[in-house]
Amino acid sequence: SAKQKGRNTWEWYNGEGQRDVTEFVLLRHDLHAAIQSEQFELHYQPIVDAVSGTVRSVEALVRWPHPKRGQLSPGIFIPLAEQTGQIIDLGRWVLRQACQDAADLLENDGWVLPVAVNISSLQFRREGFLQEVCDILAETGLPAELLELEVTESVLMQGAKQAISLIASLRKLGVRVALDDFGTGFSSLSYLRDLPINKVKLDRSFIRDMVFDRNCAAIVQGIITMAHHMGLVVVAEGVEEIEQQQDLVRRHCDYLQGFHFSRPVPLHELKRLPDRLPYGAEEVHERLLTGV
Ligand code: C2E
Ligand code: MG
Ligand code: MG
Ligand code: MG
Repeated sequence: SAKQKGRNTWEWYNGEGQRDVTEFVLLRHDLHAAIQSEQFELHYQPIVDAVSGTVRSVEALVRWPHPKRGQLSPGIFIPLAEQTGQIIDLGRWVLRQACQDAADLLENDGWVLPVAVNISSLQFRREGFLQEVCDILAETGLPAELLELEVTESVLMQGAKQAISLIASLRKLGVRVALDDFGTGFSSLSYLRDLPINKVKLDRSFIRDMVFDRNCAAIVQGIITMAHHMGLVVVAEGVEEIEQQQDLVRRHCDYLQGFHFSRPVPLHELKRLPDRLPYGAEEVHERLLTGV
């Protein structure tokens, strides 16, 4: 499987040989050009309050409208960019653009909307990252409190100590840090004790299975309860159905994100979304109150 092979082989993408090496070289070349000419776009996906459906923040997700291949999924080009080191430049562009957009929303639309940005481990562990964040906040004028960084457990792999102290420094600036794809990594739960994060994001795979898998539901409930006892808030990602929302509200999950509410959308569409979504949240609340 991909995990066994590690992420540093091109085979990871489609499990084939020579042809993929050529593919790799081509795509790497395209990626370089795309970074130089800023061909990327950011889409934003709302994260809503589980009970009221009020939009509380957004996650920035990078998109690459490739001139010949159409939209390429970040699931393909992010691992490639990580492998080649191009993620450093791409990641900086994403961070700056997301901060700029959030700062513009604040200034022009009076919209106080925290933005979450995915940070690759390579980018996070690189010397100078903290300074980069400071510089971008200063340049764009975005209050640090409106920036959240999403990292995965893999930031702990090479030196948990450094990761912990970097997160602490970010927190001192006012920047929040969320642990993404929580529950899928290999780390033990004990590291959570020392990690000064604000939030955990339950991986989509749990949300997909919890409705029919009792063990999975038990894990979700356990994580929510544990996180709350640690003073962390919990986001569920990949909420596609009203049943999942209902289940998660019942389990006191704080925030929800998923196609049930909204797909990731370009900024101009985000501006047109109502500040309460969906489409069902109120109804869920009603049903809970009346016990139907
Ligand atoms: P992620 O950070 O866990 O982001 C959530 C992914 O789940 C997004 O996929 C989003 O479109 C998708 N998603 C949201 N709601 C639903 C749902 O209800 N159902 C389903 N099936 N999917 C849903 P996307 O945009 O394709 O991104 C995939 C991954 O690529 C992200 O996972 C993240 O790890 C990475 N990525 C995306 N943008 C960036 C970026 O700017 N920098 C870095 N380093 N990584 C990024
Ligand atoms: Mg994320
Ligand atoms: Mg995630
Ligand atoms: Mg995920």
